[in-house]
Amino acid sequence: MRQPRYLLRTFGCQMNEHDSERIAGLLTADGYVATREAADASVVVFNTCAIRENADNRLYGNLGHLRPLKQANPRMRIVVAGCLAQKDGGTIRERAPWVDVVVGTHALPGLLDLLHRAETEGPQLDVREQTEIFPSALPALREVAHHAWVSIAVGCDNACTFCIVPLVRGPQLSRPIGDVLAEVHGLARRGVVEITLLGQNVNTYGRDLTVPGSARRPLFADLLRAVNRVEGLRRIRFTSPHPHDFTPDVIDAMAESDKVCEHIHFPLQSGSDRVLRAMRRSYRRERYLDWLERIRAAIPDIAVSTDIIVGFPGETQEDFEDTLDVVRRARFDQAYTFQYSPRPGTRAAEMDGQLDKHEVQERFDRLVALQEAIALEQMREQVGSSAEVLIEGLGRKGGARGRTRGNRVVHVGGEHAPGTFLDVRIVGAHPHHLDGELAAGGPGGSRSERKRASVSPPEPREPAPIR
Ligand code: SAM
Ligand code: SF4
Repeated sequence: MRQPRYLLRTFGCQMNEHDSERIAGLLTADGYVATREAADASVVVFNTCAIRENADNRLYGNLGHLRPLKQANPRMRIVVAGCLAQKDGGTIRERAPWVDVVVGTHALPGLLDLLHRAETEGPQLDVREQTEIFPSALPALREVAHHAWVSIAVGCDNACTFCIVPLVRGPQLSRPIGDVLAEVHGLARRGVVEITLLGQNVNTYGRDLTVPGSARRPLFADLLRAVNRVEGLRRIRFTSPHPHDFTPDVIDAMAESDKVCEHIHFPLQSGSDRVLRAMRRSYRRERYLDWLERIRAAIPDIAVSTDIIVGFPGETQEDFEDTLDVVRRARFDQAYTFQYSPRPGTRAAEMDGQLDKHEVQERFDRLVALQEAIALEQMREQVGSSAEVLIEGLGRKGGARGRTRGNRVVHVGGEHAPGTFLDVRIVGAHPHHLDGELAAGGPGGSRSERKRASVSPPEPREPAPIR
């Protein structure tokens, strides 16, 4: 008998990619196999994102495209999962009544049950408010064998006024350190060489945990050190730390742990203190730059990426110039730039001073042009250097594509399987990738030289947390 097929489309951040691996794992365990064709699928799953408005539009556009297929094949099941499912719940079926299952972020473990019930009882909705089983505990099917996303915490206790995450993912819930380590050991035994630890605010990991019989909770620095001891692993990444909660022990743990890659995603959001205050981001521009300096002093070859929002309500030309100024001073290797998008239910959506779209576009274009120029300069500095590249897949112009420890994309000629480590000489630079040639001696695997000063920065100034 032909096995049933599923088509899974993922939108949004790494947390959704992580959850999609679980959706694929659950469906595979139930006898499904993946397909790329909606017409061929018994189940189509959209794992959605709610961070920006266009994510909503894309979902309803995609659901519209599926409607004729569903009419032609009423046995096809359509599932909407993820943050938009959590946010919109029953509204999704009002706007697209041909959807069979709406499953929120906390209800993922019940996906198969909901699908089976949809067969006999009709449309199902589960947007419960609390996570009972960490999605990480579910079976996972990964697209690549060498890398895994590892969730260390779900939800967020901050209240950034632009952000919908606390509404759709709930308060922070850290995973017990033993569970995280058990998963990482298991992954390493199965040949995973690179992991990315995931949380909305990784450096508050553990604050909500209690360890029976212990006076001290495990914190993010402890977790980094413990994961660094796992045999077989070669690279550890994490995303994202919040600049407000960054502490010297995390820098120390990064500097001491040879598997922790020389890359940090350090979201700025705005370079204006006035806007940061309105965003309820409780660090200020000078403190942010100060931290960056300390991180770079402790880990000299570290690459830095960031997130920046343009056009937050009330952002003046002067505020925007402040952002450009921080971008010039910080010299990010990469920036994810966003135009502010009002999200229903967030404080910023109700604020006065929502900006004109053309004005925002103009600022956005200026920011992107500045950042592209800086990124290219940073990339050019890599030309002539050697790097360890972990191959991820096919390159655009033939050949292979991989990443350095600094998270820089490198294109290399020749056929190289995903998961292969190569020693590469950097010969060309572009704003978003480098060109590399195999270093003399061919495919390698040697650890890139690490030049780390063991600096323990002074205690940070503690601003009063704004919660
Ligand atoms: N926890 C991360 C942090 O604190 O930086 C952010 C996670 S969020 C999934 C990823 C990025 O989306 C944010 O850093 C922000 O730049 C962007 N973002 C979130 N809400 C937004 C909004 N309403 N409009 C535009 N960009 C937004
Ligand atoms: Fe959203 Fe702020 Fe939490 Fe990041 S820290 S997920 S931006 S509320």
